[in-house]
Amino acid sequence: MTNPDSIGYDTGTILRAARDNLWMHFTRQGSYAGGEVPMIARGEGAYIYDVHGKRYLDGLSGLFVVQVGHGRTELAEAAAKQAKELAFFPLWSYAHPKAAELAHRLAELTPGDLDHVFFTTGGGEAVESAWKLAKQYFKIKGKPLKTKVVSRSIAYHGTPQGALSITGVPALKQVFEPLVPGAIKVPNTNIYRAEEITGMAGFDKDPEAFGRWAADQVAKAIEMEGPDTVAAVFVEPVQNAGGCFPPPPGYFQRLREICDAYDVLLVSDEVICAFGRLGTMFGGEKFDYVPDIITCAKGLTSGYSPIGAMITSSRLFEPFRTGTEMFAHGYTFGGHPVSAAVALANLDIFEREDLLGHVTANEPVFRATLEKLLDLPIVGDVRGAGYFYGIELVKDKSTKQTFNEEESERLLRGFLSKALYDAGLYCRADDRGDPVVQLAPPLICGPREFDEIESILRSVLTQAWERI
Ligand code: PLP
Repeated sequence: MTNPDSIGYDTGTILRAARDNLWMHFTRQGSYAGGEVPMIARGEGAYIYDVHGKRYLDGLSGLFVVQVGHGRTELAEAAAKQAKELAFFPLWSYAHPKAAELAHRLAELTPGDLDHVFFTTGGGEAVESAWKLAKQYFKIKGKPLKTKVVSRSIAYHGTPQGALSITGVPALKQVFEPLVPGAIKVPNTNIYRAEEITGMAGFDKDPEAFGRWAADQVAKAIEMEGPDTVAAVFVEPVQNAGGCFPPPPGYFQRLREICDAYDVLLVSDEVICAFGRLGTMFGGEKFDYVPDIITCAKGLTSGYSPIGAMITSSRLFEPFRTGTEMFAHGYTFGGHPVSAAVALANLDIFEREDLLGHVTANEPVFRATLEKLLDLPIVGDVRGAGYFYGIELVKDKSTKQTFNEEESERLLRGFLSKALYDAGLYCRADDRGDPVVQLAPPLICGPREFDEIESILRSVLTQAWERI
């Protein structure tokens, strides 16, 4: 079969190359040993097309990335124009106009005095940068013991060894141990499992009390370690891994108080939640808090070119503003001119099409459409915010009993992901915590796409239940 869009290879050759030469990320290569690697060749709006021409609804925006949808010619043109003008220059002692313009634009968009932008090439590097900066900052300030970090159970913060230490998914870390020491874990805000997490009855029905309890666990961890040794707390506005845990009311306000009381930096890891995913430019706006550092990536360019950023408050930049102090850290491709130009054009689209207003207006419709699935026996919980939702699957709704390891393997890896894909919905069935199906469609989606998502999920989850 010949694919006219390919670079001269026929489809069979390219699929063989994917199986034999391409080492995919977080992928069991073996699952494709005797079959075909799913291969997406093209995108248009909210839809993607595989190498055979079959269409799928992109229910995950690629990987929480393609906010403005696929096939935007103006972003491709912004990239081409910049590559012609200045394809590459580093940010090592020199600047280039697009990085400066983007840094200024981000400073205008962030809350408070988060005005200083350190570019990376992705999210994990932004997290890594934030931990390193926190350590150096406290050394400069005469608190050299402040090096440890606190983060939450099951949270994912990236794969560099520091970011992986911050990550709270033991199964992703074990084979790479020993990692960077000094990363402490506290419970997350999964209110559906609040009774299990706290060991106390009633917390699942009292979000304020649970939020207070969960935030206070951070204070306890800081006390246990010794406040003089803790530099930062890393949290996502809505935690992705585990299946979209929004903060209970008051959680971030209490966390801010705790961080201030112990002189610990609050790092808001918004690699997923920034750039409209929750209907706001940054997550803090949605939940009314101002962090000391924002880490972001993904949606900044809608994926048309890679970039990430660590954005800090003036307090953290101050020791570096004058004198000889230097943050001895950087990446060759951090703040790449082409990516910076694309990010600016992407933010233009956000403004012109009022994507934040669109998500905010449609968020209740998305939620209500997904909540229809609660009539299925396998659907235990639907949770999230904006265009970012998780659907937790359970074996027994009345007791919230989850699936055991073998059932999870059979249900998620053996059936669900592939069945959803075959039915025309690209999304993610994940079991880094309890089994969940995750949805994060492009921000241009509306009720028509929500209905399509619901209908495919209904049919495939019904089949899954029959198999169980
Ligand atoms: N932090 C969070 C919250 C993420 O969700 C991710 C990736 O999904 C990362 C960090 C790592 O980003 P990257 O894959 O760009 O390194």
